[in-house]
Amino acid sequence: MHSIETLIIGGGVAGASLACSLAERGQGAGVAIADVDVFGKFCSSELNGGGVRCTFAEPINIRISLASTRYYLQHTKKLDFRQRGYFWMYDEELWDEARTRFLPLVRSFGLPVDEMTPAQAKARFPVLDDLSEVAGTTFTPFDGRLSPHRLRMHYLDHAQRGGAELLDRWEVVAIEGTNPPYRVTMKRVSARSVKKALTVAKTPFGPEPQGRGQAPDEREELIVRAQRIVNAAGPWAPRVAALYGRDLPVTPLPRQVYLLKQPEVNLEPLPFFLDYPQDIYFRHYEHDRQPATLVSWSDPAEPTRIDFSNHGRAYYEQHVKPRLVRRIAKLTDAELVGGWVGHYELSPDKGAIVGPVPDRAGIFNYSGLSAHGVMQSRALGEAMAELLVGGRWPDDLNLDELTENRFGPRKLLAETMYV
Ligand SMILES: Cc1cc2nc3c(=O)[nH]c(=O)nc-3n(C[C@H](O)[C@H](O)[C@H](O)COP(=O)(O)OP(=O)(O)OC[C@H]3O[C@@H](n4cnc5c(N)ncnc54)[C@H](O)[C@@H]3O)c2cc1C
Repeated sequence: MHSIETLIIGGGVAGASLACSLAERGQGAGVAIADVDVFGKFCSSELNGGGVRCTFAEPINIRISLASTRYYLQHTKKLDFRQRGYFWMYDEELWDEARTRFLPLVRSFGLPVDEMTPAQAKARFPVLDDLSEVAGTTFTPFDGRLSPHRLRMHYLDHAQRGGAELLDRWEVVAIEGTNPPYRVTMKRVSARSVKKALTVAKTPFGPEPQGRGQAPDEREELIVRAQRIVNAAGPWAPRVAALYGRDLPVTPLPRQVYLLKQPEVNLEPLPFFLDYPQDIYFRHYEHDRQPATLVSWSDPAEPTRIDFSNHGRAYYEQHVKPRLVRRIAKLTDAELVGGWVGHYELSPDKGAIVGPVPDRAGIFNYSGLSAHGVMQSRALGEAMAELLVGGRWPDDLNLDELTENRFGPRKLLAETMYV
């Protein structure tokens, strides 16, 4: 049986960043990433907004994002990192909290924050129209956006060059044992069955039972012995956790994303717009080599599950467009040119879940990145690599408060800066 020192389940930004950081420490040999479809189009890391920000309400999130952003700034060209800033619109309640609580905190890290009245904001960003119900706004120029695809390929490239192996198109379906080495069973995933492998409902605590009327799973099998396992399966992390008998509190939430073209609207030089009163965000996006606008709305009625079905044009017209054109009236006659559905992987307090899995020696979490996985992946990958190699968090980034243990009697984070 094939033996693997460190098996990372999931090759999104989480798994890839960890493999990269291990490889950079000379520990790449012995690392394998298993993924249902590592170069495919269903992982969240290929379906997100690419936003990078250090503006959070929790110090730990600022520290992680800041350390990551410093790295992205060293690789601006390669990652297409553009430090265009974030522009925030607040309602009355959040504006109050922002001014008293988290803006002073953000500034205490040396990060600049410009506060503006809605009128000042409109003067600075003339593309904006109706801000009548906005209580206050901020611009945080240190923030920006990058290409999540380039970031992930950069991590994977470094990982492979450092000796890490890619087990592409393998689905982990069973993990046996309560101590290392674990016996891990994978099943071959054909190109045609990728979506099915990622969407077919599994029972909460394992793969579907082979009951009456269900065909036995006769796919090619690979069984390996793994000394260490890292659950980096993003929105699917609870399914993987169920394979080793744990109930991981990560919830998958589908998010609809739309792309619009209007020749007179080019947001490229402008910030990433976060609109709290309306629960939408919008930003520049390049589509067919031309400027487009990406918009996404946080629908409170969206059921939590894995579901890649696109709600389509009617949904955009009814729910998303009225919100967007309120802010940018010129987009009223914009052409809807594309879109997609990706999944948030939410932890109960919107903070990452990293570090050792309780009661499972040698199994580690790296998931629950809660819509900030891209921006935080570099520092989290580095810290996880330090933990795996040296047995402790790096001195400058102790992540004890982000372990799975916090979902017991310990205090949760109170992160509110999330759309
Ligand atoms: C619409 C949208 C917008 C977002 N905007 C931003 C943003 O602006 N900035 C930001 O930082 N973050 C953003 N995010 C969040 C970000 O995309 C995620 O936090 C991040 O991509 C999670 O990465 P991951 O590696 O944990 O998961 P994923 O990228 O989903 O990777 C998980 C991988 O695990 C594999 N897998 C699952 N089960 C198995 C199994 N049993 N066997 C083998 N492989 C398996 C899957 O195939 C997948 O490739 C956004 C997300 C969405 C959906």
